[in-house]
Amino acid sequence: MAQIIFMNKTIIVSNRLPLQVAIDENSLTITPSVGGLATGMKSVHAEGNGIWVGWSGIPEDEIDSALSIEVDTKIRNAKCVSVPLSSEDIEDYYEGFSNRALWPLFHYFMEYTYFEQHEWEAYKRANEKFAEVVIDNLEDGDTVWVHDYQLLLLPQLIKDKKPNTTIGFFLHIPFPSYEIFRTFPWRAEILTGMLGADLLGFHTYDYERHFLSSVKRILRLDVNFNEINYHDRIIKVDSFPMGIDYDKFYNTALKHHSETIKKSDLRKRLEEHLTEDKKLILSIDRMDYTKGIPNRIKAFEYFLDTYPEYKEKVRLVMLAVPSRSNVPQYQKLKRETDELVGRINGKFATVSWTPIWYYYRSLPFEDLIDLYISSDIALITPIRDGMNLVAKEYVATRIKGDGVLILSEMAGASKEMNEALLINPNNFQNFAWNLKRALTMPLEEQKTRIKFLQKRLKRYDVEKWAKEFLKSLEATKQIKNAIITKKLSGDYENHLIEDFKNKKKKLVLLDYDGTLVGFKDNPQDAQPDEALFKLLDQLQEQSTLVLISGRDKDTFQRWFGHKPYNLVTDHGVWLYEKKEWVQLERLKTDWMQSIRPILETFRDSTPSTFIETKNYSLAWHYRTADPELAKIRTMELNTVLTSMVANNGLSILQGNKVIEIKSSNVNKGRVVSRLLTQNDYDFIMVLGDDWTDEYMFEEAPESAYTIKVGFTKTKAKYQIKDPNQVRQLLQKLI
Ligand code: UDP
Repeated sequence: MAQIIFMNKTIIVSNRLPLQVAIDENSLTITPSVGGLATGMKSVHAEGNGIWVGWSGIPEDEIDSALSIEVDTKIRNAKCVSVPLSSEDIEDYYEGFSNRALWPLFHYFMEYTYFEQHEWEAYKRANEKFAEVVIDNLEDGDTVWVHDYQLLLLPQLIKDKKPNTTIGFFLHIPFPSYEIFRTFPWRAEILTGMLGADLLGFHTYDYERHFLSSVKRILRLDVNFNEINYHDRIIKVDSFPMGIDYDKFYNTALKHHSETIKKSDLRKRLEEHLTEDKKLILSIDRMDYTKGIPNRIKAFEYFLDTYPEYKEKVRLVMLAVPSRSNVPQYQKLKRETDELVGRINGKFATVSWTPIWYYYRSLPFEDLIDLYISSDIALITPIRDGMNLVAKEYVATRIKGDGVLILSEMAGASKEMNEALLINPNNFQNFAWNLKRALTMPLEEQKTRIKFLQKRLKRYDVEKWAKEFLKSLEATKQIKNAIITKKLSGDYENHLIEDFKNKKKKLVLLDYDGTLVGFKDNPQDAQPDEALFKLLDQLQEQSTLVLISGRDKDTFQRWFGHKPYNLVTDHGVWLYEKKEWVQLERLKTDWMQSIRPILETFRDSTPSTFIETKNYSLAWHYRTADPELAKIRTMELNTVLTSMVANNGLSILQGNKVIEIKSSNVNKGRVVSRLLTQNDYDFIMVLGDDWTDEYMFEEAPESAYTIKVGFTKTKAKYQIKDPNQVRQLLQKLI
């Protein structure tokens, strides 16, 4: 019998499908797109039964239903599935929210950013439509890769419905700094939407760290290096600079240089200008305000004014590709560009020379190659750009190794193209100086620089980019598995419940903060509630219940003194048993006089932090402080304290957003050992959430159920998500 092999597929999702649909009167044609993303995804898409989900480019209300079915079928044949979007969706979700709110803000153009509530609603609705189509086509074990800023909410929408799906997200535009991002009215929703992914990719490390900074400050989540702890998941964040189809550009350039091929009219026209002492400078961009086109023209004027000897010797060939031309800001930009080109050509032109050749159109691929190979210099100077592929394409076509790339530091590409002449596009002096430097650069130096750049572009091309991303995404399954293997659910949980019901002499040790109740900004607000008392009362009837905490004796006396539970406070200094307080450890407190002033200095220099004075310890809390400042301050404080504590028999405890200094010969583990000698327990369960609870996990016998709340590293055998789930578990036991 033939073996049936089930293969999991990859679903690619982007706003637009990688194809063009053209409807003429009676005919329908579908042609594949050739953009960078389509090329990079080609092999992923082709593999097995992989599919691409996106919009076809035709609003639902613009074609009749019979034709719509035909379009869908043809799209299906190309292994694509279209998301039905109406003209209104496109207006509000795409042209509106995506391009009038997200695009300008993420590119630091706050003055162009419109926040419209109804467009935000449309954005949510459109993302839900994408989610619906993805989920309809999703099978268990599939991988989903979501692309770009139009679909920031999609990862979470998929994760909510299909929690076991592995989801990757890549942002093709910059992620702005926290100071910009925090102005966004729906900032938390956007971040939460993105966090549905298991892996989040950005072009550069800077965008990655901006994102992490927003996650820390806005959502107050814990971030360890490039991993985010989020409920019961660990999300990975990394940078993957997108490459180009290097071979395609290189080989086409090679073909254009060969003697056998007929030169295009454009090429001949360009070559007329090229003589020994005359140079062509190329600029290519979409007509977008992020590309710095007017700025570049003005800088070119500054260059001609500063170095007049280059008049009639250089020409700027400027290709501006029409884009979003129904948006007012883009229309304004077009007008400004037209006027500037006119003014500067008028100012400098001679009978035989115009300084700027300006094209406002898109060119076919072959013409683009001619532009690249005929230009001595590429002047790519965006004000802000996620990556910039034109810069890479220019370098790939320089098959003779000559040519100079002048590249703005504000383009993501600059991070990996150090051998280009990197400039700040706003510094005209530096701009002009570098243009002169490029014009006079010796051929040997040009070749050395181009060679280095080409080597990297060839090695890390767009296919490699896609593969690396998917490899990292696949690796997130291991993180997930590590969590699943320790996650207290299913069989593990049933076994524990069964065991609890069958055993007679049971010891239950419960930490309080972070285990039975969630954290509050002020620790005094985390009081026990009625439901908790009820739960603990029942647990107490069936076992020896011990609440074991770093809280001080007075607080626990106030909260639990009227209850029959056993209490351990101050990390193990006091034990409350049969309604009596027993001091387990005799501790000195004179050290506080010298440590307190240090903590006070840190409190005063770190807003929103405070000191808690307990009977036997001092705690510095930084829960609501700026997370990045707090990280620096905790390192500094640790350094200062380390030298002091060793000689004084003290130790530093790193709790959850708190640093506590206390006597070293006391910890929760010592109490556990003591309790274990008091009785011959046949069932032991220990629950705790932070670093201080690890001592209990260590001291518990092998047969004990040690359970850590949260999914960070632990010595406990099992892990559970949060206090809510702890309470659910305890409820099941009783
Ligand atoms: N491009 C094109 N036709 C043209 C001019 C440019 O297809 O007439 C392509 C160019 O080859 C490049 C892309 O458009 O691959 C522009 O990508 P880039 O990252 O530079 O800018 P974006 O438009 O994505 O902001």
